[in-house]
Amino acid sequence: MITAARRPLDSTLDYAALPREELTERIVERKAELNAVILGHNYQRVEIQEVSDFLGDSLGLSQEAAATSADVIVFCGVHFMAETAKVLSPGKTVLMPDPRAGCPMADFVTGEALRKLKAKHPGAAVVAYVNSTAAVKAESDICCTSSNAVQVIESIPEDQTILFVPDRNLAHYVQERTGRENIVAWDGYCYVHDDMVLEELDRARKTHPEARVVVHPEARQELLEQADEVTSTSGMVRLAEQHDALIFGTERGLVDQLNSRFPGKTFVALSGAAVCGNMKLNTLAKLAWCLDHGQHEVELDEEIRCRAEQSLRRMLELSGGWTAPSDEEQKLEEAGLRSSGCGCA
Ligand code: SF4
Repeated sequence: MITAARRPLDSTLDYAALPREELTERIVERKAELNAVILGHNYQRVEIQEVSDFLGDSLGLSQEAAATSADVIVFCGVHFMAETAKVLSPGKTVLMPDPRAGCPMADFVTGEALRKLKAKHPGAAVVAYVNSTAAVKAESDICCTSSNAVQVIESIPEDQTILFVPDRNLAHYVQERTGRENIVAWDGYCYVHDDMVLEELDRARKTHPEARVVVHPEARQELLEQADEVTSTSGMVRLAEQHDALIFGTERGLVDQLNSRFPGKTFVALSGAAVCGNMKLNTLAKLAWCLDHGQHEVELDEEIRCRAEQSLRRMLELSGGWTAPSDEEQKLEEAGLRSSGCGCA
């Protein structure tokens, strides 16, 4: 029950006028009433991270939420992440505090544009980085994360052309690591990582010569070549547990999180400008509004959801190796109705 003192307010501006403590109390109370779970991406504002039940990357968070008995998932991240949560938890209500929080990298490619590219490369395997929309995942054979992209590529027969969407930098990274020549990369990128430059890396290294430099594979090749380590955000969290001084070539929300977890260590952002404005659209006030009003709900066409799930499941089941679509799946796909390993009709 919402008490009179806690009745929902009309607009996010009303919530923004409340003290932080009251916002937090409202969020905690309402979350319990709704049996909700709050997911906070590593790049979220610190105050959002503080009220989140789970912190991490988009796939890990979606898997954590799917394993809970929560009825409602509030995803504090960007739109494709909330879609991924919905793909893996079709029976749960998935909410976003701000529906404008999209991902420019994911938006580089649409399902329709990918279908056109597939038509030019019949027989090619399509690999979608998880930073993509559900419609793009649905058009793909398998997903990958920045952690397992090399493993996913290596699971595909060497003579099969690979269409890799949407990140050209990650595609280039896996091309270098695997020696595969037959990768057709979509020309998309994450502006936060792509904008980081070598001068910033050199400056950070001069200022903190004791620190190792760790860079996300969404960054440009020249940065990856100068890094001591190249790894995903989850990999960076693991490195933070092991090292006392690190320079992070990624969005600075992760650095803020690690500095509050490890106050005695020297953790610095490679670039002060590495801020994802889309991620920062989520605020504590919007989160409180979202819980009180049950908005904004993320919904997916069931056929797209099932096909996107199949692409994600293929990646998750990779220990069994690459599974090309069966003849039956191929026929159904051509008819726009590929059967799904996720139990959907
Ligand atoms: S940091 Fe890059 S990939 Fe992540 S949401 Fe922002 S624009 Fe998209």
